[in-house]
Amino acid sequence: MSDPRSDKPAVLAVMKLPPFYVERLQRDFELLDRLHVTDPAAFSKAAPRIRAVTGGGESLVDRELMARLPALEMVSIMGVGYDKVDVAAAKERRIPVTHTPDVLNDEVADLAIGLMLSVARRLPQADRFVREGQWEQGAMPLARKMSGARLGIVGLGRIGQAIAKRAQAFGMSIAYTSRSRKDVPHDFHADVVSLASNVDFLVVITPGGAGTRHLIDAKVLKALGPQGYLVNVSRGTVVDEAALIRALQDGTVAGAALDVFEDEPRVPPALRALDNVVLTPHIGSGTVQTRHAMAQLAFDNLAAHFAGRALPTPVPECR
Ligand code: NAP
Repeated sequence: MSDPRSDKPAVLAVMKLPPFYVERLQRDFELLDRLHVTDPAAFSKAAPRIRAVTGGGESLVDRELMARLPALEMVSIMGVGYDKVDVAAAKERRIPVTHTPDVLNDEVADLAIGLMLSVARRLPQADRFVREGQWEQGAMPLARKMSGARLGIVGLGRIGQAIAKRAQAFGMSIAYTSRSRKDVPHDFHADVVSLASNVDFLVVITPGGAGTRHLIDAKVLKALGPQGYLVNVSRGTVVDEAALIRALQDGTVAGAALDVFEDEPRVPPALRALDNVVLTPHIGSGTVQTRHAMAQLAFDNLAAHFAGRALPTPVPECR
């Protein structure tokens, strides 16, 4: 693992990396696997020679960690979201932060559509209905049609646009909100409440962080209404989870499909107990093909930095 005699640049992994990324890194770098957590004494010794940090979209790379790494030159995130990286602290030291946009658009958009179909057609419940022998007692209650329904997208960025493209094939009408109006033929709403009150399905796909914290609150859920469904594939922090649980319990909204949660991997028992939800464990980009593409791009950013080339995909703040 740690090899102080190595002349390869030392890279600290701040999460458990997939084996194909580990293998690729180990060829060119001295990889220190979560040493800051697993072996604080060894980490203290290694810290002065650590030149890069890599992790995933959920990894915490805060000011405190960076302060312990005097030789730090870059942070490469394998994920598009980087809301737990203190980019301001990195910029103070001219440390670039990179991420992996675009290569996961299809995957996350596919999951958003899958979740929307799952919550509307009650697919997990239908599966249980068969497994538990309930079918023999009678037919399953009718579900809700998704094709042709009104879709609202909160955050029409790279992934939001991939969701819109797919929804068009389902004959859905599309409206959206984002910080700025886009050059697209879909209806723009300047605020989320207005969007929510005009759609059947509200799909949330903004970044996380302070700027979007609890963007989906009790007011938005009330506007979505008792026939409306919420789908969250962005970050758990974007939705006020306590308000959502209340809205699901008292019928303020019809249902929700959630891939992300406020305190992952802990999901409140009150949410797990509900029958009008579909819950997945943050698997938006979680296929072999897409994780390979993300790992390659995260590696390419590190390799470019250490070869003195331009970084392929710095985060917008570091461009
Ligand atoms: P992106 O291209 O930057 O798009 C983000 C969109 O959100 C933009 O349209 C932006 O508006 C909008 N937005 C930002 N702040 C907003 C606010 N306060 N109110 C309304 N809209 C706001 O990002 P992306 O590549 O599509 O990725 C989006 C996010 O998806 C990531 O940051 C990550 O958190 C999440 N994600 C989740 C998974 C998963 O596994 N579930 C996987 C990948 C990504 P403007 O265009 O006007 O700036």
